Amino acid sequence: GRSAALRARMEERLLAARFRYINQQLYTSTSQEAAQLFQSDPEAFEIYHRGFAQQVGRWPENPVHRIVRYLRRRPASLVVADFGCGDCKIASSVKNKVHSFDLVPLSPLVTVCDMAKVPLAAESVDVAVFCLALMGTNLQEILEEANRVLKQGGTLMVAEVASRFEDIRAFVNAMTQLGFKSVSKDLSSAFFHLLEFAKTGPPRRRPAPGLRLRPCLYKRR
Ligand code: SAH
Repeated sequence: GRSAALRARMEERLLAARFRYINQQLYTSTSQEAAQLFQSDPEAFEIYHRGFAQQVGRWPENPVHRIVRYLRRRPASLVVADFGCGDCKIASSVKNKVHSFDLVPLSPLVTVCDMAKVPLAAESVDVAVFCLALMGTNLQEILEEANRVLKQGGTLMVAEVASRFEDIRAFVNAMTQLGFKSVSKDLSSAFFHLLEFAKTGPPRRRPAPGLRLRPCLYKRR
Protein backbone atom coordinates (compact mmCIF):
# COMPACT_ATOMS: atom_id res chain seq x y z
CA GLY A 1 0.00 0.00 0.00
CA ARG A 2 0.93 3.64 0.27
CA SER A 3 2.89 3.33 3.48
CA ALA A 4 5.08 0.55 2.06
CA ALA A 5 5.79 2.70 -0.99
CA LEU A 6 6.63 5.63 1.26
CA ARG A 7 8.95 3.49 3.36
CA ALA A 8 10.69 2.16 0.25
CA ARG A 9 11.21 5.72 -0.98
CA MET A 10 12.64 6.82 2.38
CA GLU A 11 15.01 3.86 2.43
CA GLU A 12 16.14 4.67 -1.10
CA ARG A 13 16.85 8.28 -0.04
CA LEU A 14 18.79 7.17 3.00
CA LEU A 15 20.93 4.84 0.90
CA ALA A 16 21.55 7.60 -1.62
CA ALA A 17 22.59 9.95 1.19
CA ARG A 18 24.93 7.34 2.66
CA PHE A 19 26.42 6.73 -0.77
CA ARG A 20 27.13 10.43 -1.26
CA TYR A 21 28.68 10.66 2.19
CA ILE A 22 30.95 7.60 1.75
CA ASN A 23 31.89 8.74 -1.74
CA GLN A 24 32.90 12.14 -0.39
CA GLN A 25 34.98 10.50 2.34
CA LEU A 26 36.81 8.38 -0.23
CA TYR A 27 37.72 11.39 -2.33
CA THR A 28 38.87 13.47 0.61
CA SER A 29 40.99 10.96 2.52
CA THR A 30 44.19 9.07 1.85
CA SER A 31 44.01 5.51 0.57
CA GLN A 32 45.15 4.29 4.00
CA GLU A 33 42.18 6.02 5.62
CA ALA A 34 39.85 4.57 2.99
CA ALA A 35 41.18 1.10 3.77
CA GLN A 36 40.41 1.65 7.46
CA LEU A 37 36.93 2.94 6.70
CA PHE A 38 35.95 -0.15 4.72
CA GLN A 39 37.60 -2.56 7.13
CA SER A 40 35.68 -1.15 10.04
CA ASP A 41 32.40 -0.94 8.10
CA PRO A 42 32.02 -3.49 5.30
CA GLU A 43 28.40 -2.40 4.82
CA ALA A 44 29.71 1.00 3.74
CA PHE A 45 31.47 -0.73 0.87
CA GLU A 46 28.29 -2.42 -0.33
CA ILE A 47 26.38 0.83 -0.21
CA TYR A 48 29.16 2.61 -2.01
CA HIS A 49 29.26 0.04 -4.78
CA ARG A 50 25.55 -0.01 -5.34
CA GLY A 51 25.57 3.79 -5.64
CA PHE A 52 28.60 3.78 -7.91
CA ALA A 53 27.02 1.23 -10.27
CA GLN A 54 23.83 3.33 -10.40
CA GLN A 55 25.77 6.48 -11.28
CA VAL A 56 27.81 4.88 -14.05
CA GLY A 57 24.70 3.07 -15.29
CA ARG A 58 23.29 6.48 -16.22
CA TRP A 59 26.22 7.19 -18.54
CA PRO A 60 25.91 6.35 -22.24
CA GLU A 61 29.09 4.29 -21.98
CA ASN A 62 30.98 2.65 -19.12
CA PRO A 63 34.73 3.36 -19.48
CA VAL A 64 35.59 -0.13 -18.27
CA HIS A 65 34.20 -1.49 -21.56
CA ARG A 66 36.52 0.81 -23.48
CA ILE A 67 39.48 -0.60 -21.53
CA VAL A 68 38.35 -4.17 -22.18
CA ARG A 69 38.17 -3.42 -25.92
CA TYR A 70 41.64 -1.90 -25.77
CA LEU A 71 43.07 -4.98 -24.03
CA ARG A 72 41.43 -7.32 -26.54
CA ARG A 73 43.28 -5.55 -29.35
CA ARG A 74 46.60 -6.24 -27.65
CA PRO A 75 48.34 -9.60 -27.03
CA ALA A 76 46.64 -11.79 -24.44
CA SER A 77 50.11 -12.59 -23.04
CA LEU A 78 50.32 -9.13 -21.44
CA VAL A 79 50.03 -9.13 -17.65
CA VAL A 80 47.52 -6.59 -16.31
CA ALA A 81 47.09 -4.97 -12.89
CA ASP A 82 43.63 -3.49 -12.21
CA PHE A 83 43.91 -0.96 -9.37
CA GLY A 84 40.54 -0.46 -7.64
CA CYS A 85 38.93 -3.25 -9.66
CA GLY A 86 35.45 -3.14 -8.10
CA ASP A 87 33.56 -6.19 -9.37
CA CYS A 88 36.43 -7.30 -11.65
CA LYS A 89 34.81 -6.57 -15.01
CA ILE A 90 38.25 -6.53 -16.61
CA ALA A 91 39.50 -9.84 -15.17
CA SER A 92 36.27 -11.54 -16.17
CA SER A 93 36.28 -10.16 -19.74
CA VAL A 94 39.81 -10.76 -21.07
CA LYS A 95 42.11 -13.75 -21.49
CA ASN A 96 45.10 -11.97 -19.96
CA LYS A 97 46.48 -12.68 -16.52
CA VAL A 98 44.86 -9.89 -14.48
CA HIS A 99 45.82 -8.96 -10.91
CA SER A 100 42.69 -7.34 -9.42
CA PHE A 101 43.15 -5.11 -6.38
CA ASP A 102 40.52 -3.56 -4.16
CA LEU A 103 39.86 -2.79 -0.52
CA VAL A 104 37.06 -5.33 -0.11
CA PRO A 105 36.41 -8.42 -2.23
CA LEU A 106 33.30 -8.05 -4.39
CA SER A 107 34.47 -11.13 -6.27
CA PRO A 108 36.76 -14.08 -5.49
CA LEU A 109 39.14 -12.69 -8.12
CA VAL A 110 40.04 -9.72 -5.88
CA THR A 111 43.29 -9.44 -3.96
CA VAL A 112 42.44 -7.26 -0.98
CA CYS A 113 44.95 -4.46 -0.43
CA ASP A 114 45.46 -0.73 -0.49
CA MET A 115 46.37 0.22 -4.04
CA ALA A 116 49.24 2.34 -2.70
CA LYS A 117 50.96 -0.90 -1.73
CA VAL A 118 50.18 -3.91 -3.91
CA PRO A 119 51.74 -7.36 -3.47
CA LEU A 120 53.54 -7.44 -6.84
CA ALA A 121 57.21 -7.50 -7.69
CA ALA A 122 58.82 -4.47 -9.32
CA GLU A 123 58.56 -4.36 -13.12
CA SER A 124 56.24 -7.35 -13.28
CA VAL A 125 53.23 -6.05 -15.25
CA ASP A 126 52.68 -4.79 -18.81
CA VAL A 127 49.49 -2.81 -18.30
CA ALA A 128 48.29 -0.96 -15.19
CA VAL A 129 44.67 0.24 -15.11
CA PHE A 130 42.90 2.83 -12.96
CA CYS A 131 39.29 2.89 -14.10
CA LEU A 132 37.41 5.52 -12.05
CA ALA A 133 39.64 4.47 -9.17
CA LEU A 134 42.06 7.37 -8.53
CA MET A 135 40.22 8.29 -5.37
CA GLY A 136 42.72 8.88 -2.58
CA THR A 137 44.31 12.25 -1.86
CA ASN A 138 47.71 10.50 -1.96
CA LEU A 139 47.53 10.38 -5.75
CA GLN A 140 51.26 10.66 -6.19
CA GLU A 141 52.01 7.70 -3.92
CA ILE A 142 49.43 5.58 -5.77
CA LEU A 143 50.84 6.43 -9.20
CA GLU A 144 54.39 5.81 -7.97
CA GLU A 145 53.23 2.33 -6.97
CA ALA A 146 51.88 1.75 -10.48
CA ASN A 147 55.22 2.92 -11.85
CA ARG A 148 57.08 0.50 -9.58
CA VAL A 149 55.16 -2.59 -10.77
CA LEU A 150 55.16 -1.61 -14.46
CA LYS A 151 57.86 -2.80 -16.81
CA GLN A 152 59.83 -0.20 -18.69
CA GLY A 153 57.69 0.85 -21.67
CA GLY A 154 54.59 -0.63 -20.01
CA THR A 155 51.17 0.95 -20.41
CA LEU A 156 49.22 2.95 -17.85
CA MET A 157 45.52 3.48 -18.59
CA VAL A 158 43.59 6.08 -16.60
CA ALA A 159 39.85 6.56 -17.00
CA GLU A 160 38.49 9.36 -14.85
CA VAL A 161 35.39 11.49 -14.55
CA ALA A 162 35.89 14.41 -16.95
CA SER A 163 34.89 17.09 -14.45
CA ARG A 164 37.61 15.97 -12.02
CA PHE A 165 40.36 17.42 -14.21
CA GLU A 166 41.21 21.03 -13.46
CA ASP A 167 43.84 21.27 -16.17
CA ILE A 168 44.65 18.27 -18.36
CA ARG A 169 47.92 19.73 -19.58
CA ALA A 170 49.17 20.32 -16.04
CA PHE A 171 48.09 16.79 -15.13
CA VAL A 172 49.94 15.26 -18.08
CA ASN A 173 53.03 17.35 -17.26
CA ALA A 174 52.97 16.10 -13.69
CA MET A 175 52.71 12.55 -15.02
CA THR A 176 55.91 13.14 -16.98
CA GLN A 177 57.66 13.83 -13.68
CA LEU A 178 56.30 10.57 -12.35
CA GLY A 179 57.90 8.67 -15.22
CA PHE A 180 54.96 8.44 -17.62
CA LYS A 181 54.76 9.93 -21.09
CA SER A 182 51.42 10.61 -22.72
CA VAL A 183 50.60 8.23 -25.58
CA SER A 184 47.00 9.21 -26.30
CA LYS A 185 44.12 11.17 -24.82
CA ASP A 186 40.52 10.34 -25.58
CA LEU A 187 38.39 13.27 -24.45
CA SER A 188 35.42 12.36 -26.64
CA SER A 189 33.04 11.34 -23.87
CA ALA A 190 31.28 14.09 -21.93
CA PHE A 191 31.50 11.90 -18.81
CA PHE A 192 35.01 10.51 -18.66
CA HIS A 193 38.48 11.04 -20.07
CA LEU A 194 40.61 8.11 -21.10
CA LEU A 195 44.36 8.71 -20.93
CA GLU A 196 47.04 6.31 -22.05
CA PHE A 197 50.63 6.64 -20.83
CA ALA A 198 53.84 4.66 -21.28
CA LYS A 199 56.38 4.19 -18.50
CA THR A 200 59.62 5.97 -19.38
CA GLY A 201 61.49 5.24 -16.15
CA PRO A 202 61.27 5.62 -12.39
CA PRO A 203 59.53 8.68 -10.93
CA ARG A 204 61.53 11.68 -9.86
CA ARG A 205 60.93 11.69 -6.14
CA ARG A 206 59.60 15.14 -5.68
CA PRO A 207 56.18 16.72 -5.61
CA ALA A 208 54.58 16.83 -9.04
CA PRO A 209 52.58 20.07 -9.10
CA GLY A 210 49.57 19.84 -11.39
CA LEU A 211 48.81 16.33 -10.19
CA ARG A 212 45.43 17.32 -8.87
CA LEU A 213 41.98 15.91 -9.42
CA ARG A 214 38.84 17.44 -8.03
CA PRO A 215 36.76 15.15 -5.84
CA CYS A 216 33.79 13.76 -7.72
CA LEU A 217 30.84 14.75 -5.57
CA TYR A 218 27.37 13.74 -6.64
CA LYS A 219 24.39 16.03 -6.26
CA ARG A 220 21.25 15.16 -4.38
CA ARG A 221 18.56 13.94 -6.70
N1 SAH B 1 37.37 -0.03 -11.65
C1 SAH B 1 36.03 -0.45 -11.32
C2 SAH B 1 35.52 0.14 -9.99
C3 SAH B 1 35.59 1.63 -9.86
S1 SAH B 1 34.90 2.22 -8.31
C4 SAH B 1 35.10 -0.09 -12.44
O1 SAH B 1 35.41 0.77 -13.25
O2 SAH B 1 34.00 -0.67 -12.50
C5 SAH B 1 36.41 2.62 -7.47
C6 SAH B 1 37.00 1.41 -6.77
O3 SAH B 1 38.26 1.78 -6.23
C7 SAH B 1 36.13 0.92 -5.62
O4 SAH B 1 35.87 -0.44 -5.76
C8 SAH B 1 36.98 1.23 -4.40
O5 SAH B 1 36.79 0.31 -3.36
C9 SAH B 1 38.38 1.15 -4.98
N2 SAH B 1 39.37 1.83 -4.17
C10 SAH B 1 39.32 3.10 -3.69
N3 SAH B 1 40.40 3.37 -2.96
C11 SAH B 1 41.17 2.24 -2.97
C12 SAH B 1 42.43 1.90 -2.38
N4 SAH B 1 43.10 2.76 -1.62
N5 SAH B 1 42.93 0.68 -2.60
C13 SAH B 1 42.23 -0.23 -3.35
N6 SAH B 1 41.05 0.04 -3.93
C14 SAH B 1 40.51 1.26 -3.74
